[in-house]
Amino acid sequence: MATSSSSSSTAAPASRRVAKVAVVGAGAAGLAAAKELREFGHDVRVFEKGRDVGGVWVYDAAVEDDALGVDPNRARVHSSVYASLRTNLPREVMGYASFPFASSKSFSGSDDRRFCGHEEVRAYLRAYATRHDLLDAISLGEEVTDATPVVAEASDDDDATRWGPKWRVTTRSVEKGDDDDANAAVVETFDALVVCNGHYSVPRVPSLPGSEARPPHTDWSPYDRVRVVNAVPEGLRPSLLSTHRVTLSIRTRRLSTPSDAFQLHPDVGPQTWPGTQTHSHNYRTPEGFEGKTVVVLGAMASGEDLAREIATRAKTVHLAARGWTPPREEGPEDGDPGDFPASSYPRNCVLRPGIAELRSEGVAVVFEDGAIVEGVDAVVYATGYHYVFPFLEGETDREGGGESEKKEAFSVAAVDNCVSPLYKHVFPPRSAPSLSFIGLPWKVVPFPQFELQARWIAKTLAEGGLPSREAMAEEAAAFEESLARDGVARRHAHRMGETQFAYNDELSTLCGEEPLAGWRAEMYRATGRRKRSKPTEYRDAAPWDDEAAREAAREEFARFID
Ligand code: FAD
Repeated sequence: MATSSSSSSTAAPASRRVAKVAVVGAGAAGLAAAKELREFGHDVRVFEKGRDVGGVWVYDAAVEDDALGVDPNRARVHSSVYASLRTNLPREVMGYASFPFASSKSFSGSDDRRFCGHEEVRAYLRAYATRHDLLDAISLGEEVTDATPVVAEASDDDDATRWGPKWRVTTRSVEKGDDDDANAAVVETFDALVVCNGHYSVPRVPSLPGSEARPPHTDWSPYDRVRVVNAVPEGLRPSLLSTHRVTLSIRTRRLSTPSDAFQLHPDVGPQTWPGTQTHSHNYRTPEGFEGKTVVVLGAMASGEDLAREIATRAKTVHLAARGWTPPREEGPEDGDPGDFPASSYPRNCVLRPGIAELRSEGVAVVFEDGAIVEGVDAVVYATGYHYVFPFLEGETDREGGGESEKKEAFSVAAVDNCVSPLYKHVFPPRSAPSLSFIGLPWKVVPFPQFELQARWIAKTLAEGGLPSREAMAEEAAAFEESLARDGVARRHAHRMGETQFAYNDELSTLCGEEPLAGWRAEMYRATGRRKRSKPTEYRDAAPWDDEAAREAAREEFARFID
């Protein structure tokens, strides 16, 4: 199969720069990054902490030892994919533009359904990596533990001014483990760092009223985790420190993951509630729910799928969602997830508003409309995930000062799931183009968008072309102000939906290319309509209602030679 004719692999102009680039992660985004960076001639190294490429699509039957996924010391599992998962997009539109994920073909050897199982997606991603000769660029089992900007002292360093700081990247072998003396950290400096670490791995769990008990003798907030960055005695010479009481001026830094008010401290909160609590990240099969009363909180794609699957075994499933729109007899033309016909739910599935409280007495769940259900066996939180970049946090201070500050200044912060500041969801203005992020937007068709973002990064690292840092910062700030003005929650900053198509077109223009074909948006919209009207059958609803888009896809794919 040939690669797309619209690919940007053209003869390099003489002035093109070749950068040494580190990519964090070999999921679908990291693979797209490797492909595009190589096509622009860059020297690429992808670090992947897992044993295979594919990211979340590498199904793992294991779950974390803390089912809520909030204990910072838990053994981590990356994938959130459950055993029965089938894609929620048809494969034609889901696949990368440079490598068709065609219905007529099975990559795993057994699954050529339009909405295929997760194993087929994993096989497709591996085929993509093989097709584009990426495997030799990928170091499996290598975790990036730290990335620190190397900032030149001289203010007239032209390279740093134009290309942003270099990045000193520390990695360790996952197989050897922390206790193995031979597992020395490897440190290497790169011209650029492309972050593709995924954002469906670290559970976001609500702090529910009535379950916020704090240990009585402390005044610390269980919902904030801060790191002490510096503690300086006020007004005393160091020699007096051992004999005098001193006032310490303590400077702290909020950590991006748990500082979010949506995160529970592992020792307190609803874990005192006697029922079982699990985040969808740690759900694999409905086994164990036989005859139980279960509450699923969250009715986006995972909550919907899980509620319907658990209902095949449980006595009753209460599907709860904040701001729930009462289901209609027929699905609406367009709407939000959860907006499905009432008749489409199993008889033992009860639709509820959000949870107001978990009550230990009676093992009860109180809903926002005041309804109380007692004898609840389990709550499953399908409440989403945090953006986290632990390797970019200011933990190390190896050279005695300034490292944390440097990281903070040149990187981003994820507060209430808004990664900021960012120019067009990709570049932090202060360090562009040497630091970039692929795959932050959600409610999108990810794989083709990954390729567009990756191509823009690769081109920019080779040729420059970004506006001034001030202009990028202004645009990033204006975007955040527009969210506030339009009443959009910060946590929805990267939610795109219909706006993804204009965003993709803008990326194509920035790459100097034709936009993606119109059948993609048509097929995406048709799938949304079909899903809302037939939530249980939309994956198998042949004869299909998007024949024109399918035909256009077939024509496009015919340009790729088998
Ligand atoms: P990931 O796939 O998460 O990959 C990130 C990689 O980075 C991982 O391999 C991880 O091990 C590695 N990594 C992380 N940190 C480090 C580190 N410090 N050092 C080294 N390596 C690191 N999308 C669709 O298009 N269709 C669907 O039907 C669909 N269904 C989904 C269902 C579920 C339950 C979930 C969770 C997601 C679904 N998605 C779907 C979205 C899916 O996340 C994207 O398709 C895409 O796979 C994300 O790719 P990624 O590379 O951004 O992240």
